[in-house]
Order: sequence, then structure tokens, then C-alpha cells
Amino acid sequence: MNRRNFLMTPPALALGMVAAPLLSQAAPAILTPASRILPRDGARPRIVICGGGWGGMTAARYLRELIPNADVVLLERNPTFWSGPMSNKWLIDVVSTDFVHHDAQRPANVYGYTRLITEVVGFERDKKQVRTAHGLIDYDFLILSGGIRNAYDAWFGNDQKAIDYTRNHFPSAYIPNAEMLALKQKVQNFKGGTLVMTLPPPPHRCPPSPYERACLIAWHIKKNKIPGKILILDPKPKVAPISMGYQTAFRELYPDIITHVPNARVQEVDPFNKRIKTLAGEFKFDDAILMPPHQAAEMVWQAGLIGTTPDGKPTGWADMHPRLYHARSDDSVYFVGDLMGAISDQFGHYPKSGHVANYIGKIVAQNIAERISGKEVVARLPDNLCYMMVNADPREAISVKFEYEVDAASGKVHQTQIDVDVRTEDLVKEDFVWIKEKFSDFLAI
Ligand SMILES: Cc1cc2nc3c(=O)[nH]c(=O)nc-3n(C[C@H](O)[C@H](O)[C@H](O)COP(=O)(O)OP(=O)(O)OC[C@H]3O[C@@H](n4cnc5c(N)ncnc54)[C@H](O)[C@@H]3O)c2cc1C
Repeated sequence: MNRRNFLMTPPALALGMVAAPLLSQAAPAILTPASRILPRDGARPRIVICGGGWGGMTAARYLRELIPNADVVLLERNPTFWSGPMSNKWLIDVVSTDFVHHDAQRPANVYGYTRLITEVVGFERDKKQVRTAHGLIDYDFLILSGGIRNAYDAWFGNDQKAIDYTRNHFPSAYIPNAEMLALKQKVQNFKGGTLVMTLPPPPHRCPPSPYERACLIAWHIKKNKIPGKILILDPKPKVAPISMGYQTAFRELYPDIITHVPNARVQEVDPFNKRIKTLAGEFKFDDAILMPPHQAAEMVWQAGLIGTTPDGKPTGWADMHPRLYHARSDDSVYFVGDLMGAISDQFGHYPKSGHVANYIGKIVAQNIAERISGKEVVARLPDNLCYMMVNADPREAISVKFEYEVDAASGKVHQTQIDVDVRTEDLVKEDFVWIKEKFSDFLAI
């Protein structure tokens, strides 16, 4: 599979599922971004979901099941679904492309929601409308589940040349798009030298997964006897989570390949001359996977729903009720997945994981169903579980689990973290059971 195929829409999806709703009777003949599309069907409640990844597809399924007369519309820019979880294993061929890449129209057909391939470009919240590349869509409830944006501006300001160069030459592949294919090519073609990996400052998408990626690329380097080294530039003072498990893997499995540099918060990046300045020193590289800071997807900024710090700066994440997941200033808008804001001053954010996105997708569907049926809304908490492969032969993984409860005294959500630092083959088996269960929950496979 090449980059072109990944971005291409299968003809049935492009013509059948996009054209049908747009050309329904009441729709105008010529569409402009100002056209109102997908006319309402009677008094059915309309829930529009922006972003059809782990969280959005889960919410769509459960909304249809819990509110049988709901008109659920999911807006997604990508024609197909590409999974972040398991994609590190796909980089070194532990799993095939078919394992991480799926038909996204099938679940829409199975569960009975409308999936429109389009770009969400803004909102008219006072009119309860979403602006898309195809036109305006009305809603009663809105779910924002667009994941993250790469905040290259934190490094480069508005220097678009440096941003484009970095994105094209040193992609991080942390957002489901063609960067995944570019990164795989980079790994498979790596001939040696220093490969630098920058980690974003917390909170960021799937905190343990950059270390998993380092281990698996190191395994590939070791297996193929490539004269290469990996330098992990980590803004944190130590590896986290699963600190001991990862440090043991680095030391025992890849002592001559992986170097972890703590407190290496990025200060300046010169992608053209392959240099990085950090608080832990200056580094030159031959190749790199440059992860800039992560923030909530553009759609939260477009909706005007980003939180602010006490001194009035944007937090970068959704401003939301920590237990009910709707916007503080607009309770018809819900947040699901990685774009969510802080939950508690004890631990900050829920881990930005597929597991949590899937869990919150269900909870938000339940909360909207309760509101539509006039029942009391129940505040529910997720959990989190991540398995991280550190060795591909034998296949061994470590893992981390997070549990949440409401502290009776303060009424705040409290987090317990359980690291499993000993790498075992059993954890790899559990990982495959986990992913199959999740895929069957929202991909209908
Ligand atoms: C390498 C890697 C390994 C990972 N490993 C794990 C793991 O082992 N376990 C785990 O639980 N999690 C893991 N994750 C994290 C997981 O992928 C994310 O946490 C999860 O995808 C978040 O779900 P989401 O719905 O918030 O965002 P996404 O799944 O990214 O979905 C957001 C969707 O919104 C769409 N979108 C965004 N903006 C627009 C727009 N303007 N218009 C239209 N569509 C838009 C995007 O195309 C995307 O499909 C991993 C991630 C990576 C990258």
C-alpha cells in the first residue's frame, strides 16, 4: 500500500455515502460552504459528531443504540480508519496493514448512522450549526472528537517554511494520516547514524507510546545490524509512565542503541541544518522523528471552547465540565477523546489514549440519551489500560493501568497508576485480546 492508496476513497464510499445524503430532495442543487445540507428528518433529535476516530465512532454507535430514533451524523475528513494503537508494531511488520487500516463506512452501515467525508471548518453555535467544506449542518447536540493538533507554532511561530519542511522530512505520525506511511518508509530505509526522537511536553497523546516506538525501531536496528543510534529527547525528568519497565528494556535489550536524555525540553529546532537546542544541550541528527507539543484539534479553537489559564493564556485543551464532559459555557457541546481538558488538579488530564476515548464515547452517548429522555444525568468515570511492546523477538510487552474514583472528601476525581514493569509474552497476548475487543466495539469487526 502506498501514500496515494491511503488517501484515496474507495469509489463506493466516495460516491455512495457522500453523494446520497447531499443530494437528498430538499438539498440545493449547487453546494457552497453556505448551503444547508443534510436537511432534518421530522422531530428526530440530531447529534452531530465532528471527528470519526476512536472516540467519535464509539459515540456514534452507542447513540444509535441508546436513542433509537436519533439522527446521528458523523463528520470525518479521512475516507478510511487508521489506528494509532498497534501502529508502532506495524512500523516493523509485527502486524500487517490490514490490521491497523479499516473500512470506516461499514460500522456506519451496521449501526445506522450517517458518515460524511468532509472537513469541519467552523461553527455557528448560536444557530446550532456546524460549518463544513460541503455546507452547514444543523444539530441539537454536538460532539467534538477531532483528537489533537501538532502545535508546530510553539517551535516556529508562523514560519510556514520551517513547519512544512519539518512535517515533510521528520513526520511524527501521531495523527491518522499519510505520515504513518512516510514514517514506515523512513524506518525501513534507515541506513544508520543518529535518529533523534523529540517527545512533547505533557499532556500529549498516548504518553508511553513514543518509548514503545523507540524500542521497536531499536529492535529493527539491532536485528538488521544497522549502525544506528536513537536519541530520545524527553522534556520530563524521567521516563514515565512504566519508568522501570522501559529503563530496564533500554538497558538490557538496546544498551548500545537507545540513549534517553531527560529534561531535554526543546528550545530551538533548525530542521534545515538538522540541529536541536534543548535545556539538556544541543544535538545534531542524521534523521529524526520530531514530535512538537500537542494541543486539542483545531475544531475546539474554531468553536471558541479552549480553556484559559488563571493569567488568561489558552490552556490548549477543551474547557469542559470534568465529570459531565460538556463545555462549561455551552451544555449542548460535548468533548470526547484526546482533545478533552483537565479533569483534576491531582493528575491533570485523563491519559490521551484510544482506551479512554472509547470509554468516554460511551459515557457521553449515555449522558446525551439521559438528557433526551428527561432522566437524571449520571456522572461516570473511565479507566485506562495500555500495553506497550518492548521486544519483537521474543514478543514481550509491559503495561500500565489507571483507575479513577471520586474522592469522598473533596468530590474530585482521584487517579491510581499501576505500572507492570516486568516484560512478558503474556502481556502481548493480552494486548491482542484488548485491541480485538476495542475494534469490535466501534468498527463492527
Ligand atoms: C503510535 C501510537 C500508539 C498508540 N498506542 C495506543 C495504545 O496502545 N493504546 C491506546 O489506548 N491508545 C494508543 N494511542 C492513542 C490513540 O490513538 C488516541 O488516544 C486515540 O486515537 C484518541 O481518539 P480520538 O477520537 O480522540 O482521536 P482520533 O482517533 O485521532 O480521531 C480524531 C478524528 O478526527 C478527525 N478530524 C480532526 N479534525 C477534523 C476536521 N476538521 N474535519 C474532519 N475530521 C477531522 C481525524 O481525521 C480523526 O479521524 C496511540 C497513538 C499513537 C499515535
